[in-house]
Amino acid sequence: MRSKVGEVVTAEEGEIYDIELDESILKANRRLAEENRRLLDKHNVRAIDIMGATGSGKTTLIEGMIRRLKGKYRIAVIKGDLTTTIDAEAISRHGVEAIPVNTGKECHLDANLIQKALKRLNLEGIDLLLIENVGNLICPAEFPLGSHNRIVIVSVTEGPYMIVKHPYIFMDADVIVINKVDLAEAMGVNPRRLMEDARMINPKAKVVLACCRSGLGIGEVIEALGL
Ligand code: MG
Ligand code: ZN
Repeated sequence: MRSKVGEVVTAEEGEIYDIELDESILKANRRLAEENRRLLDKHNVRAIDIMGATGSGKTTLIEGMIRRLKGKYRIAVIKGDLTTTIDAEAISRHGVEAIPVNTGKECHLDANLIQKALKRLNLEGIDLLLIENVGNLICPAEFPLGSHNRIVIVSVTEGPYMIVKHPYIFMDADVIVINKVDLAEAMGVNPRRLMEDARMINPKAKVVLACCRSGLGIGEVIEALGL
């Protein structure tokens, strides 16, 4: 591939030594994700996977959704992080059950960890399960969890190229949230450009401009999910 900076060094398929990309692991994950989906469906639980980089606003979005939805649905949260339980504690303050999942060195949740977490929940006692993935925009795209919908959140503070640089994760999102629009001017980032990038990569997704901290846009996310 040629670019303005000359020849690009490009990894061939399978060339990078990365256990995560091993096809048998991905296949096993997909099978477990299907099992998770069947289990959720059996108990009438709708599950939504929320993905985005660290600091993009995943937890704040979840808290906003809980505030608006807890009168209508019985909600639980599965919260993935490498080692901390900070977010799970913040979420549990809203009076919903939050199961922390620590992945150690792994940079994504997988269907197996979700299966273990689901065993800790009384699925008959909930209607809506929000899953906060580990802060990362790369491999969660390859590890479906069995959720019914996927939200990807990106914040203007991450700069103008987060969407074009991570196309795969945005490709199968149902809702794309562009967060912290109140800081766009200070950051010199045009949220409309991010919106255009999102629409180009995934024309089927609903794209929402948001400020999750103030609550702007959360209603639109909920509506887009039909909740
Ligand atoms: Mg968080
Ligand atoms: Zn990973």
